[in-house]
Amino acid sequence: MLDNKFSMFSFFTNKVLDIFQSLGKSKTLSEQEKNELSEKIQDTLLLADVPMEITKTLATEIIEDVEKNTATKVTLDEKLKSAMYHKIVDLMGNEAGGATNVDWKNKKKILMVGLQGAGKTTTIPKLAKFFKEECRKTKILATSLDFVRPAAVEQLQIVCEKHNLDFFPPSYGNLEQTIEQVLEKFRTEKYEMIILDTPGRLHIDSAMMENLRQIETLFEPDMTLLTIDSMIGQESLKVAQAFCQAITVSGAILTKADSDAKGGVALSLFKSVQKPVYFVTTGEKVQDFEKFIPSRVVGRLLGSGDIASLVEKIDKVVSAEQKENSKEKLLSGNFSLQDFLEQMEMMSNFGSIQKLMSYIPGFSGIPKAELEKAELELKKFRAAILSMTQKERENPAIINPSRKKRIADGSGLNIKIIEELLNKFEESKRFAKLLGRGSMKDMFR
Ligand code: GDP
Ligand code: MG
Repeated sequence: MLDNKFSMFSFFTNKVLDIFQSLGKSKTLSEQEKNELSEKIQDTLLLADVPMEITKTLATEIIEDVEKNTATKVTLDEKLKSAMYHKIVDLMGNEAGGATNVDWKNKKKILMVGLQGAGKTTTIPKLAKFFKEECRKTKILATSLDFVRPAAVEQLQIVCEKHNLDFFPPSYGNLEQTIEQVLEKFRTEKYEMIILDTPGRLHIDSAMMENLRQIETLFEPDMTLLTIDSMIGQESLKVAQAFCQAITVSGAILTKADSDAKGGVALSLFKSVQKPVYFVTTGEKVQDFEKFIPSRVVGRLLGSGDIASLVEKIDKVVSAEQKENSKEKLLSGNFSLQDFLEQMEMMSNFGSIQKLMSYIPGFSGIPKAELEKAELELKKFRAAILSMTQKERENPAIINPSRKKRIADGSGLNIKIIEELLNKFEESKRFAKLLGRGSMKDMFR
């Protein structure tokens, strides 16, 4: 179900659903279809306000993933769904690009920054509500240094009164004294946290940045939140860059996701400034606010609220099929050094062999020295295979003595190791064939 509050993403979603539909349940892509698909993905991303530099690479990588996915039990649209999901979540920084893994409890001094009209003041009671609920903070103080926009301090006072949030009216004057006064109030009345509103300007200007730098130095925030109006489209990336260069921004809040903005900011902000988006606001009411979590956002983007579990299902089918294939290959003794390398890479996902063995009951008794030796050997084998050409990996029989020497030089290894690798490889092929034929095959089921 598409959440209609996020109208910002509906544009993208509609386009993507069209693409999925056009692919239908077919299994392979012709060269022409591939090009058309790449173009469609790029156009969709561009129209959604994702910068050109990103769209091209992203589309290429997505198509590559679809092509690499040789599973026969999933359809093309499912492969595309899975590839888009993973690539866009990665683009958005995965967990690092959102609000998970943040120690909210320890944030006591929050600084709000952003252009005028971005939504800083409106977001303060929303944030306070979040901290009240998420961290059980009850004593929160809000105050404002926005003496630039007419009646900005009064605006904050009014929203605070409306939402039962303590407000402190600062006195206009010397910045140092004003901030000291604010901090004094915060300390002596033992507030659990303080949210400080600051002045913005209509455009980036050096006076605003200088003012923010001073505020940052004097206030010493635990967290500086950059409020970004998603309606300003691609321009927002420049704004974000300017703020990030001038001060230490912790992360962003994207406002007005209920507008007809295109959503590209949400996709590309992390890539552009390497800062997470923590929250997104979808209206003026205090409840129109939520944590930003890339995987969930991409779910919405791709037109399915629960795409994460859908993609998980698709990926399971794919990996089961791949496993089946590599098992068949292994047991036929018909595998290459490339397969050997891939198995090793897969294993390295588990960390060291020693760690891997520690998970398997019965293997914990193997002496550490033996395991270390095996691990070292595998590392050397890996380096040796990486120094071989694709042809050599597929058919090691072509490796003659002079090639052996070249591989040894290329990998910085002794030629003996190369020979050992080739011997072991032949041996394991013979062993696998034996296994494949005999009743031991069942052991792999
Ligand atoms: P500031 O100058 O950064 O403090 O911006 P304000 O908090 O005063 O907000 C500027 C305008 O944007 C106000 O009219 C807000 O009501 C509006 N606004 C803020 N957040 C949202 C949002 O998530 N959705 C919509 N539709 N309007 C918003
Ligand atoms: Mg304001």
